[in-house]
Amino acid sequence: MSRKKKEEIESTSKKNTGQNIRVIPLGGMREIGKNMTVFEYGDDLIVIDCGMAFPDTRMPGIDIIIPDFHYLRENRDKIRGILITHGHEDHIGALPWLLKEFDVPVYATPMTMKLIEIKLENTRPKVESKKLQVVRAGDSLSIGAFGIEFIHVNHSIADAVSIALTTPVGTVFFTGDFKIDYTPTTVDPIDLGKIAEIGNRGVLALISESTNAERPGHSLSEREVGKAFKDIFSEAAGRIIVATFSSNVFRLQQVISTAESFGRKVLILGRSMLNVFEAANSLGYLSYQPSTIMDIQSIDSFPAEEIVILATGSQGEPMSALSRLAYSEHRSTEIMEGDTVILSSSMIPGNEEAIYRVVNELFMKGAQVIYESLSEVHASGHACQDELKQILTLTKPRYFIPSHGEFRMLYRHAELASKMGIPNERIVLSKNGEILEFSEDGSLNFTGYTEGAGILIDGSGMGDVDEYVLNDRLRLADEGVVSVTIVIDAQVNRLYGDPVVQAKGFIYESEMKHVIELCQERVKEIAGELWSKKKPLGAHMTSDDMKDKIQKTLFELTRRRPVVMVAVVAI
Ligand SMILES: [Zn+2]
Ligand SMILES: [Zn+2]
Repeated sequence: MSRKKKEEIESTSKKNTGQNIRVIPLGGMREIGKNMTVFEYGDDLIVIDCGMAFPDTRMPGIDIIIPDFHYLRENRDKIRGILITHGHEDHIGALPWLLKEFDVPVYATPMTMKLIEIKLENTRPKVESKKLQVVRAGDSLSIGAFGIEFIHVNHSIADAVSIALTTPVGTVFFTGDFKIDYTPTTVDPIDLGKIAEIGNRGVLALISESTNAERPGHSLSEREVGKAFKDIFSEAAGRIIVATFSSNVFRLQQVISTAESFGRKVLILGRSMLNVFEAANSLGYLSYQPSTIMDIQSIDSFPAEEIVILATGSQGEPMSALSRLAYSEHRSTEIMEGDTVILSSSMIPGNEEAIYRVVNELFMKGAQVIYESLSEVHASGHACQDELKQILTLTKPRYFIPSHGEFRMLYRHAELASKMGIPNERIVLSKNGEILEFSEDGSLNFTGYTEGAGILIDGSGMGDVDEYVLNDRLRLADEGVVSVTIVIDAQVNRLYGDPVVQAKGFIYESEMKHVIELCQERVKEIAGELWSKKKPLGAHMTSDDMKDKIQKTLFELTRRRPVVMVAVVAI
C-alpha cells in the first residue's frame, strides 16, 4: 500500500532536467558470454567488462563473437575508462579488439590485470596498453561524473569484484559474477557489510547475474570440494590427474594442498595452467612447499602413488593437456592403468559431447574417472536462488535488471525479484543494444537501440562475416554445392558445347548422372529461348534469374537446395 502511494507522488512530480544516466547492455543479455555494459552520464561514459562468446553449432567457421563497439565509436570522446569485474573470458576476452581501437584506461584488480596482460601479450599482432591501472576491492575512485566502488565477492576466480557506480541521478549496483561463500578457502567471504551499506544509501538499479537463477538453494562452498578431494586421494593407489579451469586459483591451491597432505608431488600441465600458476604465484596467492612442484622431466623418477597431475582440458578441448594424455599424444606421459582422473569442473552446455569423448577414452585406457555428477568435486562460482535473494534484500533496489544469462535464467531471476516485492513495472528484462535511461525523478525510459548483435570473428579479421556468409556456410554444409560452367559463342549468341555441371556434397554419385543431364538440358532450353528472343546470352546467363531457374530444377528433382554457382565464359 505504502509503495503505491509513493509512486503516485512521484509520477506527479515528474520533471525532465536532461541529466539522465544511460545504461546500455552491449552483451550478456539473453545469452551466456560477451558481457559488456555501457554507463553514460552527461559527457562521461564508462564501460563494465568486455567479454567474448563462443559460437554455437549454427555458426560454422566462426572462432569467437565479440560485442559490437558501434556505440563506443559514436561516443569516442566521452569514454573515460573500462572497469573489469574479473578475469574470465566472457568478461575480458574482447579487450584486445577494444584496445586496438580505443586507447582508454582499463581498471582491474591484481589477478584480473595479470590475466589481461597475458591475453594482450598472446594476441597477434601484440596489443599494448600503457593505461592499465590496478585497483583493489575496497577502493573507491571518481572517473568523470561517476563515483566508483569496488566490492570484494566470491567467485571461481581470485579478485572478482562487484562495482557500485554513483551519479547525481543515483547508484547502480553491478554484481558481476558472484556467489556467497561463507567458508571460502584462502580469501574472505563476500563483503556483505559493504553491500548492505550501499543498499542503505539507496540503490537506483541493481544489475545482477543470473547464471544459476534456475537453481534453488545455495551454491556449494569451495571448501566442500577440498573434502571430496581428500576422500578420493585417500582411496587412489596410482597417479591422480585433476583437470579444472586453469583460472580457478582456489581450486589449484586445494589440489596442491591435498597433494601435500598425502605426500604427493604436483606436475602442472598445459600452457594456460602454467600461465595462471605463475601469475598467481607472483601475487603471492598460492602457498606450498617449493619441493611439491615437480617438472615434467622428473616424472619417471617418482612412483605413481606420489604423483598428482594438474591439467587443463576439463571441457574436452582437443589441444588441452587432458585430451593429449587421453589420446596418448603427449610427448612425456600418457594415461595408464590405475590412474584416477578427476574432472573438477562443470560441463559448459555445448561441450558435453567433447567431454564424454575424452571420458570414454580415459576409461578405455584403464583410468578411473570421477566427474561432477558422481561426487562433489566441483563447486559452481555462481549464486543460486537464496544468494540472489540475499543481494536483492541487501541492496533494496528501485529497479531490478537481471543480466548474464539466457532468457530463461533472466526470467527466473525476474520472478524471484517479483516474489520479493519489486513491482513488475520496475523489473526490466533487457536485451543487448537497448538504451535504458534513468532520470533524476527516478523514472525509467527506453530511448532507443544501438547495435547489439555482436561481431563474428573469423580468423583474425573483424566483422568480415555477416549473416549471409553464415547462411551460405550452413547451406554448403547441409545441402552441398552445384556449379554450372557455360561456354558461349558470343558472335552467334549460342552455347558452345554442353554446359559442365559439377557437384559436391549434394546427392549420391549414382544419381548424379541423371541430375546432371537434366540440368544440362534445362540450361540448353533456357539458352534456346533467349536465342529465339534475340536476348544476349552472356548477360542473362549470369543473372540471378538464371540461378533461380537452375535452383528450381534441382529442387524439383531432388527436394534439396544446394548453393548454385554459375560461371559463363564467352569465346
Ligand atoms: Zn566469471
Ligand atoms: Zn561470466
